[in-house]
Amino acid sequence: MKVFSLNRNDPQRPPNYSIDYAAVLNNAQHQAVFHSGGPALIIAGAGTGKTRTLVYRVARLIESGVAPQQIVLLTFTRKSAKDMLERASELLDGRCRQVRGGTFHSYCHSILQEHAESLGFRKGFTVLDADDAADIIQYYRSELDVAKKDSLFPKKNTLLTIFSACVNRRESLESLIESRYPHFKPHLDHIRLIQTHFQSHKREQNQMDFDDLLTHTLELLTEHESVRMATSADIRHLMIDEFQDTNALQVELAECLSSVHRTLFAVGDDAQSIYGFRGADHRHIMEFPTRFPGAVTITLEENYRSVQPVLNVANRLLTQAKQAYPKELKALKGMGDLPGIVKAPTQEDQSRFISQMILNLREQGISLDQTAVLFRNSRDSFDLELALNSRGIPYVKYGGTKLTEAAHVKDVLAHFKVVVNPADGVSWNRVLGLIEGIGPKTSRDFFEWMRTKGFDFDHGAQFPAGSTYKTQVLSLISLLSDLKTKNYPTHEAFKHVVDYYTPLCRKRYDDHEKRLQDLEVLHDMSRSFRSMSRMITELSLDPLDATAVDVVGMENLEQPLVLSTIHSAKGLEWSVVFVMQCLDGVLPSSYAVDDEAQLDEELRLMYVATTRAKEYLFFTYPAIAHSAGGEFFTKPSRFLSVMDETMLEPWILVEEPENLLPPPQLES
Ligand code: ATP
Ligand code: MG
Repeated sequence: MKVFSLNRNDPQRPPNYSIDYAAVLNNAQHQAVFHSGGPALIIAGAGTGKTRTLVYRVARLIESGVAPQQIVLLTFTRKSAKDMLERASELLDGRCRQVRGGTFHSYCHSILQEHAESLGFRKGFTVLDADDAADIIQYYRSELDVAKKDSLFPKKNTLLTIFSACVNRRESLESLIESRYPHFKPHLDHIRLIQTHFQSHKREQNQMDFDDLLTHTLELLTEHESVRMATSADIRHLMIDEFQDTNALQVELAECLSSVHRTLFAVGDDAQSIYGFRGADHRHIMEFPTRFPGAVTITLEENYRSVQPVLNVANRLLTQAKQAYPKELKALKGMGDLPGIVKAPTQEDQSRFISQMILNLREQGISLDQTAVLFRNSRDSFDLELALNSRGIPYVKYGGTKLTEAAHVKDVLAHFKVVVNPADGVSWNRVLGLIEGIGPKTSRDFFEWMRTKGFDFDHGAQFPAGSTYKTQVLSLISLLSDLKTKNYPTHEAFKHVVDYYTPLCRKRYDDHEKRLQDLEVLHDMSRSFRSMSRMITELSLDPLDATAVDVVGMENLEQPLVLSTIHSAKGLEWSVVFVMQCLDGVLPSSYAVDDEAQLDEELRLMYVATTRAKEYLFFTYPAIAHSAGGEFFTKPSRFLSVMDETMLEPWILVEEPENLLPPPQLES
């Protein structure tokens, strides 16, 4: 195939821009927004306006006459893509909403939907979540009977992590086991066998896991020249935010997708690379100019987000890195309060401090949604959540458990999955397993019965079912056939499943009331999905946080406080930030302390957390912690303990003196 470049229709006439770009951008940002011809990398520290530059660039390109559908904006979460396009629409107009945007995974999913058949899949393949993938692995693991031979054979989740690392690092199983899991070397042959079974299982059942979405797209683009040409010819401009967190596979995809127009525009900050465990490597950003020849590099210098004392802490953190990030963030905002380091006697006191301080700041006019509490691990906030609940402070939590991973939600969605992809054995298993009297063997027999007849639901009704569960199987089959043939709107289909599921849920779970309430909220949400298939796909690509349902219905009340893992706080900003549980062994994690590279990644996490704060920043930790062995004295995070009182102001918590009653009046 050949590429021929057409001249622009009217190259002389400069576009009549409605936005005064020079007034709202600094020089370097302006240069980036107007960059044309060839790839570009914007590499700059936190809060310097990288994301803002992307937003203005979208608007500028559309104003210059680029069709929005020919722009692809890849970001870290689908929500951030949506927010950016929303912002661009406010600046310009609704055309910006037509820009194609999302995560690498969701974008790849949309390409594969069109071309799955060229890869040997059937139309309507479904996406496997990590839990289901691990269950499939477990099936082959137990079938091979390897586990009994040696207690050190990797467990299902470890196997999944190993397979996923191979994909994302572009590394062979042999070399990965050799370098990272040498203790599993004796099992290499069996591990490889499970990997092979796992791959063919997914193909047979027309399913892809998260990694497959990336690998199969790359396979499609590299092995089908015409698809690569057509797909990348359609992308006049490819833009990527948070480029430091792309892994080897994603960089290759970016190369393929930008191979016709060569206009990849990436922004990132090497000091914020925090996804090493998923194969991201901050060196990719350094290699950008060689991977994308002719690339222009633009740096942004001024930080618009934070006051200088916050940035002083951030700068001081970076000087501790073994791998240097020569960066000195300078605040345009100037001076502000010193960040505090708060030593609480216990974890409970830490929670009391944070919740009390949040209420105090709220009285001073800082709304709850302008405040965030960040932590290393989702479990770090459990105690705080109790304190917030007892004070009635509404919050939403990002990066923790997902509602879509909860058993009752998976139960209901499995019915949709079976209708959309009847070859999906895991979902059949789930759906049948809900019926009393059906165990794994009957479930397998049923699946085989259906498979031999091309998954015709009517045929399911003839399954020689045992008398104990026959009626229930018949109502299941009638539900599934209705969902398949009656073309219900998604929310009606959802309602039918919930009606069928409610008695099963009541029998199965003691806390069924709360679970059924969740389903009611999901039922409301289901209105926004065009079809059952869209609903299951979108919820797998963008799982709902478990607290999502708790804040629905709060719209008219105050917007909630944000609790978030540091990983999920990437790119965001708040007036006030608390970073809690700043302990050695938590941040940095105890798993990282003996490894220089991992320790650096923990440091970058602390850097990301710090640079989220606009005005006020508090690092908190308890002096005493509990473990199975009893109480012990903690050590504050090594990243903070090197800083003196000119950078971090120590806060000591004391109990309010008891309110003494006035002395009794003596009778005269
Ligand atoms: P991060 O590295 O954390 O993702 P970033 O470099 O993407 O940060 P942005 O989020 O784009 O930074 O910008 C940080 C803040 O600074 C935002 O509130 C943004 O609106 C503001 N900002 C950036 N550039 C300008 C500017 N030229 N004028 C006014 N405000 C700006
Ligand atoms: Mg950003």
